[in-house]
This record gives sequence, C-alpha cells and structure tokens, in this order.
Amino acid sequence: MTFMQALPNRHLRSVAILGSTGSIGTQALEVIRQNPERFRVSVLTAQSNASLLINQALEFKPDCVVIGIESKCREIELALKSLNIPVLCGLDDLNEVVARPEIDIVLTALVGFAGLRPTLAAIKAGKDIALANKETLVVAGELVTSLANKHQVKILPVDSEHSAIFQCLAGEENNPIEKIYLTASGGPFRGKSLNFLSSVTKNEALKHPNWVMGAKITIDSASLMNKGLEVIEAKWLFNLQPSQIDVIVHPQSVVHSIVQFTDGSMKAQMGVPDMKLPIQYALAYPERIKNNFPRFNFLHYPNLSFEPADTQTFKNLALAYEALHSGGNMPCVINAANEVVVAEFLNNRLGFLQMSEVIESCMSKISFLSNPTLQDYMETDSETRSYAKHLVTNL
Ligand code: NDP
Ligand code: MG
Repeated sequence: MTFMQALPNRHLRSVAILGSTGSIGTQALEVIRQNPERFRVSVLTAQSNASLLINQALEFKPDCVVIGIESKCREIELALKSLNIPVLCGLDDLNEVVARPEIDIVLTALVGFAGLRPTLAAIKAGKDIALANKETLVVAGELVTSLANKHQVKILPVDSEHSAIFQCLAGEENNPIEKIYLTASGGPFRGKSLNFLSSVTKNEALKHPNWVMGAKITIDSASLMNKGLEVIEAKWLFNLQPSQIDVIVHPQSVVHSIVQFTDGSMKAQMGVPDMKLPIQYALAYPERIKNNFPRFNFLHYPNLSFEPADTQTFKNLALAYEALHSGGNMPCVINAANEVVVAEFLNNRLGFLQMSEVIESCMSKISFLSNPTLQDYMETDSETRSYAKHLVTNL
C-alpha cells in the first residue's frame, strides 16, 4: 500500500461557513486557522457584522462573502476590492452561494429558521452539511433528512450532544439503539423555583455556567428549550422514536451524551466543554486530527453527577416533547414562537416564565398540518411569528 492510499481523505477540504461571525463560526475559523493543510475557506457569510466579516475575509481570502443586510454591502466591497473578493447581498444570494462547485462542506452556523432554505439549497447541490443550526432540523426534519438521503449527502452533527452520539455510533451501524441520553447542564437556573424564575433578568439568563455561546442559544439553555430542540434534532439525525430519547441533567458538561444499545451496554463520549472539538470532528470526518485543545483532567472533576430534568418548572422541555409527539408542523410552530419570545425577552419586553406561556398559546392556536410542504413550513413560521408578537403586545 502506498502512502497516498493509506490516507485517502487527506485532501484540502473547501468549507463554506454560513454565520462565520458568530460563536460557532469564529470557532470554526480557529479550527481552520490551525489546519491550513486540510481546510480552506470558500465562503463566509454574516447578517450585519460587516467589520468582522471584512477582517475574516482579509485573513482567509475566501472565494466570496455574503452579507445579509444589503445596506452594508458597499462598505464590504470597498474593503475587499484590492483582493478581488466578490461581495453578495441578501437571502437569495445566500441560497445560491452554497452551490458553488468548489465547496465540499457547508457549515450551517447561522441562527434560527433562516438556516432552513440555504441548508436545503446546499443539500440539493450535493454538499455535505456540518449542521450546527439545529432549528433547521426542528422545523423540517423530515424534509431535510429525506432530501439528504436522495442526494446522498452526509449531515454531520456539530451540536456537542449529537456529535457525542454520532461518535458513539461509529462502528455500530448494524446494532440497534435502545435509547439515547442527551445530557443537559441545567443552565444558570438549575434547581431554582418558579417563584425565583418569575423575576430573573436577561443578564442573569445570559450567564451560562459552562459554555460561551450566541445570545439566542444561551437563553434557550436557561429555559431548557435548547434541550427540547435537541430532542427533536436527535429524532431526525438518528431516526429514533420519542420514547427512545431521554434527557439527563449533568451539571459538569463532561459527558456529552450517551447511547444505550440493545444489550444494555452504554457508550458515552466525554471531554472538556469546548465546541471546537465537535466542529473539528464534523469538518474532518471521518478522521480525527491532532490538536492542542485543553485535555480533560479527572482530578479537576472528582464528582460527575446526574439528576432528572425538572419539566414542571422548565415547561419548555415538556412542550418540545409534546411537539415531537404531535409531529407535522408543530415543531415548526414551537420553533417560531420560541424565536419571537427569546427576542422579546432579550429586549426586556417579556418575563422569563411568560416565554413558555406564549409558546403554549401558539401551539394551541396555529392550524395543525400533518404532512407539511416547504411552503406550509414558511407559512406556519410567519403565522406563528405574527400571533406570538400579537400575544406579547397584548400581555
Ligand atoms: P451567534 O448568534 O453567535 O451567530 C449567528 C451567526 O449567524 C452570525 O454570524 C450572524 O451574523 C448570523 N445570522 C444571524 N441571523 C441571521 C439571519 N437571519 N440570516 C443569516 N445569518 C444570520 O449564534 P451561535 O454561533 O451561538 O449559534 C449558531 C447556531 O449553532 C444556532 O443554531 C445554535 O443553536 C447552534 N449551536 C451553537 C452552539 C454554540 O456553542 N454557540 C452549540 C450548539 C449549537 P451577524 O454576526 O452579522 O449577526
Ligand atoms: Mg447542544
């Protein structure tokens, strides 16, 4: 066997990063910065952060960049003129750019429902997906996974829990899963009462004990909606029934998730909480790359603990299970309502507990569709947003 045959996957992988200016996007660029012989940047995109996008483009010299807010386009064009990097603007360009021929893998690191259409476009163009944008699978899991099967593209999870499950399943392709356990840190309000939660502020909710992340997912983690979205995400990634997906609170965030097989044997994936590891695993899959990330030290964690999730106090997790059981457009409803209430909470226009109240009202008000099309999802999303905003205004 020649040296080249022994290392068949070691070619330069071209990566498109949707949402390069965010928490996942910047950590992905750190992984790429440390592995220039393995990865190159093809596309960088942002919504409004023109200055960071410019700096990233000057460093990584992508084939093109996309900015969501069109009024920022000119500023970026001027800054990148000397490098001849084309600047595209707006949603339509985002949906087109993912099909560029040189792209090998698209990292979906943008936030919310906005990720759905570019992810579908990338799959249709035959690109593998490194999926951070869990909302896409929550909203339209059936559509996305069946399209991925049709185009034979891989959906590689970036979310740490799902990366953990994915890593535990390596080599177990023919062995049925009995159950998975998604671990949850419990967030900053673990163990708190409803009374306590009724007056928490956005700054308290933004202080996550173990992870530094974008604002939306940090609030989702505090309300346990993040875990609810992850339960739905897991259903689609691993083809599971709701009864096969359990959540267990593990405050140290060292065991990233666990698979239990039909013989009762359990495999867990562990490590220090660091998103660069699952990002790197998805981008380099199926290889593991040597790195200098901090290593786990047992002496720093003499006690790893596990406890049940409190779905009475953190109602969002129960609502997400309910949406998963209902199926159809219900997960789309819960996602849209959640995006609205999180934005309103961050703008100090809604209390922490009111977020669940608005979501629950949307779930009972919006028309249920059992077999939604893409058009149905778009309409469900926009109807739910209007209704949720109406509820917030009239509270
Ligand atoms: P951030 O808010 O930090 O970053 C979001 C990125 O998406 C930014 O580049 C932002 O641009 C861009 N963006 C925002 N809105 C839009 C839009 N409407 N259209 C196009 N682009 C947009 O989020 P995170 O990095 O924390 O999260 C990204 C995704 O990854 C989410 O789905 C999250 O649930 C998931 N995830 C994140 C984890 C984490 O550790 N952060 C862990 C696991 C999953 P700009 O900067 O210009 O606003
Ligand atoms: Mg996660």
